[in-house]
Amino acid sequence: MPDQAVINSRRTGINWSTCITMVVFHAASIAALFMFTWKGLAAAALLWWISGSLGIGMGFHRLLTHRGFKTPKWVEYFLTICGMLTLESGAINWVATHRIHHSHTDAPGDPHTPRDGAWWAHIGWILTGTAQQHDEAILRRYTPDLMKDKVHVWLNKWFYLPLVVVGVLLFALGGWSLLMWGIFMRVTVGWHATWLVNSATHMWGTRRFETNEDSTNNPVVALLTFGEGWHNNHHAYPRAARHGFAWYELDVNWMGIRALQLLGLAHDIKLFKDAEPSVEDDASVGILSKAA
Ligand SMILES: [Zn+2]
Ligand SMILES: [Zn+2]
Repeated sequence: MPDQAVINSRRTGINWSTCITMVVFHAASIAALFMFTWKGLAAAALLWWISGSLGIGMGFHRLLTHRGFKTPKWVEYFLTICGMLTLESGAINWVATHRIHHSHTDAPGDPHTPRDGAWWAHIGWILTGTAQQHDEAILRRYTPDLMKDKVHVWLNKWFYLPLVVVGVLLFALGGWSLLMWGIFMRVTVGWHATWLVNSATHMWGTRRFETNEDSTNNPVVALLTFGEGWHNNHHAYPRAARHGFAWYELDVNWMGIRALQLLGLAHDIKLFKDAEPSVEDDASVGILSKAA
């Protein structure tokens, strides 16, 4: 029987609401250049770390998608809300997309492989592909753990609310510059940083492990994504909470997880030595052979 995820991944047609949002945010980012203030830049930098590292890297990706470590529920929900500030859809939809990527990496069914073109892998799949829109059957199949959790289901539905609240607060506190930099510029730059993991780190970089797809380690993408660019390491050991395997592979998200551990808020942390493949990563089982 054909895999529904495979069929959905090739769905075409313009996602109008997504396209309009993208155009508005990119145009507003250009406008933000004419409203520069140091306060605006500082707000953008702080929110980039909160949303990109605490939210996407530590929360959506290493915790929710791969369960590379465990936290108290309130920490899990907090990291999820941080991730919602990126406007990359709700966590359940994000996790489903990423688990599908891991089980069909660079193969038919991968929502965003550069084998279908670099533009497609970077942004095309969002504008004209499935983007993060999955039907209920796909969500039940790929994210049963999160679909059981009523709080996650609610947060997933209202994924844009934290961004609206933060936007209103920024505008009240500092006017247009804070709003344009802290929300529009920061979200737009954050999108491209995340998308580079889908495009660049499946095309350019080095490969420590001979995995059966094209993932690479790319230091530029790693810097822009707080450590997510060590993507070949990650595909080789998907459940490992640490992606920078060598001392020179700076992994800010890992430092965040270690900080949580030191505070007593993270435990059962999977490292590459003891990271067994997870159910959603079954396609990655048995592919490892160390290249060097
Ligand atoms: Zn990948
Ligand atoms: Zn992953």
